[in-house]
Amino acid sequence: MPELPEVEATRRGIERAAVGRRIRELRLYEARLRWPVDPTIVDEVAGQQLCAAGRRAKYLLLVLERGTLILHLGMSGSLRILPADAPLRKHDQFELLLANDTTLRFNDPRRFGSLHYTREDPARHRLLQHLAPEPFTPDFDAAYLRRITRGRRVAIKQVLMNSRLVTGVGNIYASEALFRARIHPRRRAGRLTEKDCARLVRAVRGALSAAIRAGGTTLRDYVGIDGNPGAFRQRLYVYERDGQRCRRCGTLIRTITQGQRSSYFCLHCQPK
Ligand SMILES: [Zn+2]
Repeated sequence: MPELPEVEATRRGIERAAVGRRIRELRLYEARLRWPVDPTIVDEVAGQQLCAAGRRAKYLLLVLERGTLILHLGMSGSLRILPADAPLRKHDQFELLLANDTTLRFNDPRRFGSLHYTREDPARHRLLQHLAPEPFTPDFDAAYLRRITRGRRVAIKQVLMNSRLVTGVGNIYASEALFRARIHPRRRAGRLTEKDCARLVRAVRGALSAAIRAGGTTLRDYVGIDGNPGAFRQRLYVYERDGQRCRRCGTLIRTITQGQRSSYFCLHCQPK
């Protein structure tokens, strides 16, 4: 599943390759995505310039002259910039044909992605208005983490993964951040000290920024904006490294299941 670094890498790709271009046409091949795509969007966006590429949590915001396209990659979606006449592939769901004969094409086998258009401030759109703080904004700090963990018996990993509390931290970066902060994924959230919270905030940001710099993590079905997989995988500390040696201390990395997701950790570096 694309996580925040992959979405941010995609945003940067769009910024480099498509911002400033005019949209010739939106071609919608499949309206049955996670939510049905409103077919009137096709007429709305035709002829508008793509002015900026933004992001809120895992939503991409394509800012046009008179409104904003709100796009989510879902479980398996990817965007690519291609020559306009590149042959369609299976699961291509829509594309934005640009005036320079390139196209921004969305492929999504599982169809959990989405496309909306709003003429209002996108921050007030129903999909975005209730999102929790995200790691790179000042409202996600040690005091906030302390407030949402205090008195909770649930494991800290579950708190990081709860999108009503923190947006944009999925399974990979929750495991990576806990390793960097030297906190066991099963540690009860309520047992985190103020110092732990401060270290964990830095660790979450550090794990995400390292991945963003590397262009996202190479995963089964993630492909970046130009079709090249990310190069971050070799630098992961624990994620999907069970049975391999910890890069810090040499202990074998272990895995456990929490909330039906695998967590990876080093028992020596992350005592419980
Ligand atoms: Zn270790």
